[in-house]
Amino acid sequence: MSDTDDGGGQELGITESKAHKPGEWYAEVVQKAELADYAPMGGFIVTRPRGYAIWERIKDHLDGWFKSSGVQNSYFPMFIPESYLEREKDIVEGFDPEVAWVSEAGHEELEERLAVRPTSESIITPFIARWVRSHRDLPMRLNQWCSVVRWEATDTKPFFRTKEFLWQEGHTAHADEDGAWTETMARLGQYERLYEEVMAIPGLTGRKPEHDKFPGAHTTTTIEALMPDGKSVQAGTSHYLGTSFAEAFDITYADVDEAERTAHTTSWGLSWRAMGALIMTHSDDQGLVLPPALAPEQVVIVPIWQEDTEDEVLEYSADLAADLDDEFRVHLDDRDERNPGFKYNEWELKGVPLRIEIGPNEVADGEVTMVHRPDGESEVADRDAAVDAVGEALDTVYAKLYAAAEATLEENIREAHGRDEILGTLGQHGGYVRTGWCGDEGCETEIKDQIAAEIVMLPLDRDEAPVHDTCGVCGEPAADTAYFAKNY
Ligand code: AMP
Repeated sequence: MSDTDDGGGQELGITESKAHKPGEWYAEVVQKAELADYAPMGGFIVTRPRGYAIWERIKDHLDGWFKSSGVQNSYFPMFIPESYLEREKDIVEGFDPEVAWVSEAGHEELEERLAVRPTSESIITPFIARWVRSHRDLPMRLNQWCSVVRWEATDTKPFFRTKEFLWQEGHTAHADEDGAWTETMARLGQYERLYEEVMAIPGLTGRKPEHDKFPGAHTTTTIEALMPDGKSVQAGTSHYLGTSFAEAFDITYADVDEAERTAHTTSWGLSWRAMGALIMTHSDDQGLVLPPALAPEQVVIVPIWQEDTEDEVLEYSADLAADLDDEFRVHLDDRDERNPGFKYNEWELKGVPLRIEIGPNEVADGEVTMVHRPDGESEVADRDAAVDAVGEALDTVYAKLYAAAEATLEENIREAHGRDEILGTLGQHGGYVRTGWCGDEGCETEIKDQIAAEIVMLPLDRDEAPVHDTCGVCGEPAADTAYFAKNY
């Protein structure tokens, strides 16, 4: 049996190339690293324990930040009565093609159809309206961790785009525009922090063009992450909803002067698409690569022994594992039936950030040999200083991942003037193309029709002067700077 054979002759390792066949490679990593499987219904996935463990860590980070900034978790029904959905007309129109309906239960036809929530503004806002009476009840900040269903027409892809997906959705109400706008930006900032500090992916923040806003929103802000294949991922969105939902669902409150005022609301969501971005950004032809903060095992210890050294090597390894266990998630792989080469391949495939090799030499010299997952670099540390050395090595692994992703982003923001240059640059390099834009959706359509790229964002600051005086597509005066990219 070879190091990469499961014993049944099936190849355990990754066989596709990330550079040449990113789609096939991605599907293989997801399945072979045991993150997810395909469900029997097209467009749905089953999340396996190793995949769910990553999602739980993403969730724990965000949840902690939400709670320490005034958000309370709650839970609302997964069904929304049709009459509720219809109260905010943009939501009905915007989600209409993607809503799954329940019209029958048991053997009875329902009196009113129920929508499986595609997002929950229409069921949460009426309750906020009921619970808010005076300015003292504001701001009100609710969040729920749940799944939503959107019957996506475009091709689905595990985590990036599935018909049912896990996410969090935050819904808040504020006394005025200022409060709601500050909230919108604070949540976008937390998404950016998650990507940078936890996932080791630098993001670009901006706002969506008018025609691509969340239905009913005044402004949709987005964090976009660039994948190594040159496509952008909408990695999380935070919406300032103005008063449209508050008006549709009557969130009014008595202000300090007793006057009745309408609240301003926000909503913000981050889904397991973040996991798609994570896998796609860092992983390689050996399999999954994970930043230390999200890895189910941060360190794997692989003992290497012969019959005459077994006892001392295993004892030294177990002792090391016990020492590291207080500070890190450590796994000691002392399986007898697998050789070290097999184990290296398996843990590389599963994305463990740091491998420690312990053989008779390490035991004799009182050392540990550590190997970094992203690039295979190895370093030796004193056994006595192992806890600190492992901490530093994990920081280095994070830094390597971030630096690589940052370099990709920096190299792939280009400027272009004129239609041909926009198309040529996107066609040749992918990435982001920055250009002036007149504000007309038709100019975006022209590019989209030819190269399947769209305006993924505009600068957050509406008053920022456009990068060029004229629209890169039609040549009319520019109103904004557009970032064109192909996207997921
Ligand atoms: P939205 O409510 O449309 O602003 O969506 C919030 C976030 O959920 C988006 O920014 C995406 O990152 C993510 N998302 C949207 N649709 C899907 C999907 N079909 N599968 C996975 N994630 C999604």
